[in-house]
Amino acid sequence: MCVGCGACIEVCPAQCITLNPFATIDHAYCTMCGSCENTYPYDAIGWTEVLTKVEE
Ligand code: SF4
Ligand code: SF4
Repeated sequence: MCVGCGACIEVCPAQCITLNPFATIDHAYCTMCGSCENTYPYDAIGWTEVLTKVEE
């Protein structure tokens, strides 16, 4: 789960992640580059959720 460490925010080239209080991806700007998924130490961001939501 997301612990709000903010590490993903720093690596997102699209700057589309915000904390409120946990990481939320603005799917309108996410390029699905995978940087956030490869960065954080916790299995937190639902990058798979991103893919799911984009497909919806
Ligand atoms: S999704 Fe991961 S890297 Fe991003 S704030 Fe949450 S714990 Fe930190
Ligand atoms: S996959 Fe999306 S949210 Fe994650 S770092 Fe890349 S652009 Fe940002």
